[in-house]
Amino acid sequence: MTRTSWHLVDPAAYDLAKRTVTEKYHHLHFVEHNGIVIIRGSFPVLFEQRELDRFAIEVIIPPDFSRDLPLVRVTGGRIPPILDRHINNDGFACLFVAEEKAKYYPDGSSLLDFFDGPVHSFFLGQALVDRGEPWPFGERSHGVAGIREYYEELLATTDISVILKYLQCLTPREQKGHWECPCGSGRKLRHCHGSFVYKLRQSIPRKVAKVSYEALKKEYGTQSPS
Ligand SMILES: [Zn+2]
Repeated sequence: MTRTSWHLVDPAAYDLAKRTVTEKYHHLHFVEHNGIVIIRGSFPVLFEQRELDRFAIEVIIPPDFSRDLPLVRVTGGRIPPILDRHINNDGFACLFVAEEKAKYYPDGSSLLDFFDGPVHSFFLGQALVDRGEPWPFGERSHGVAGIREYYEELLATTDISVILKYLQCLTPREQKGHWECPCGSGRKLRHCHGSFVYKLRQSIPRKVAKVSYEALKKEYGTQSPS
């Protein structure tokens, strides 16, 4: 299925995004390649009003922006492509876990907000790490370990089997009251954590929950409950 890219669907919004981003970031350039918008150039890291560093980057804007997030890649080999530097196996920057999109890049945010917010934080972190400082943004781990930590905090449990059961309640199209409650009480969902699960379903998209479920199950699914 080919989807018409956002910038063709709404050329005025695209013009505005392009103008606001390039007015602030003079060294970023927009190109259109096979119907996809790609932004390339050098991105400045500001710290206490002055430019601390610069990174050569490439940003791919997905056709379904801003529902799907842009992919950020560091070009020129400046940052080692390892999880410890928040770079995923596919070479793209790990800006935050998908479940936290609403916190770091809420609906209605602009493309400029994306550069000013998550992208700037990411490269400020990288610049500080290059200077021997610790990663400054929370203790969240990388990749699947970060997803586990997110759910451990959210569900107040370290039991991976409970976390997986909750995720299984988030992926079907509809919530059913007769499901067994994922908390392990043995009661039906409607008599236990039904409204909590309902609230989770409002904030975590099914697609995101499904991807996290598969990732956690693959990584930790065989561990016995702790
Ligand atoms: Zn319960």
